[in-house]
Amino acid sequence: MAVDSAKLIDIIKVIADKITENREYLTQLDSAIGDADHGINMSKGFRAVVEKISDMGEKDCGTILKTVGMTLVSTVGGASGPLYGTAFMRAGQAVAGKNELDFNDLVSLMEAALEGIKYRGKAERGEKTIVDALEPAVEALKLRREEGLETALRDAVEEAKKGMEYTKDIIARKGRASYLGERSLGHQDPGATSCYIMLEAMAARLLD
Ligand code: ADP
Ligand code: MG
Ligand code: MG
Repeated sequence: MAVDSAKLIDIIKVIADKITENREYLTQLDSAIGDADHGINMSKGFRAVVEKISDMGEKDCGTILKTVGMTLVSTVGGASGPLYGTAFMRAGQAVAGKNELDFNDLVSLMEAALEGIKYRGKAERGEKTIVDALEPAVEALKLRREEGLETALRDAVEEAKKGMEYTKDIIARKGRASYLGERSLGHQDPGATSCYIMLEAMAARLLD
C-alpha cells in the first residue's frame, strides 16, 4: 500500500460521497434516538472538507488530515463534529510530514483517531457510540496486520459492521440518546453507522 497526497484526497472524497449518499439514512437513525440531524451535520461537514482539500495535493498527508479535522470541528454543530474532527486531527499528527503512507502508517493513524475520539468523548465500548464501530475495526487491523492489507482491511470493515449492528442491543450512555435510557434499545446508533460507512468507503478505495 502506498497512499500519496493525491490518493489521500481521493479517499476523503469517496468518504464524502458516501456520507452524502447516506444523508437521509443517517438523519433517520438520529430521528429515532436523537435530534434528527446526524446526516445533515455530516454531509455539511464533508462538503466543506472537500472544498478545503481539493487543491491540497502539494501538501503532506498529515497536513491534509489535520485540515479535514479542523474543518469538521468548525463546520459541524453537533457532537459528531468535535469527535470526528479530533479523530482526523490526531490521525494527521500521527503521520505528520509524510508525503506517502504505508500500511503501518494506516494502523498508526487509525489508532490515533480512536484514541482522539475516546479522549474527546470519554466513551468506552458498549455505550452506543462511534467507539462501538471504530474500536473493533482498529483492533482487527492490528490483529491481522501480518496477513496483509487486504485481509486486515476486510476484517476491520466486517468488525465495524458487527459493532454497528450491536449498538441496537445496548443502552446509550453518552450523547443525546442517553437521555432515552432503555428506550434507546432496539435502535442502531447513527454515529456508529456513519463510522462504518466511512471505513467501508476508505477500504473500498484502498483496495480497488
Ligand atoms: P448531536 O447529538 O449533537 O445532534 P450528531 O447527531 O451529529 O450530534 O451525532 C450523534 C452521534 O454522536 C451519536 O450517534 C454517537 O454515535 C456520537 N456521540 C455522541 N456523544 C458521543 C461521545 N461522548 N463519544 C463518542 N461518540 C458520541
Ligand atoms: Mg443529532
Ligand atoms: Mg444536533
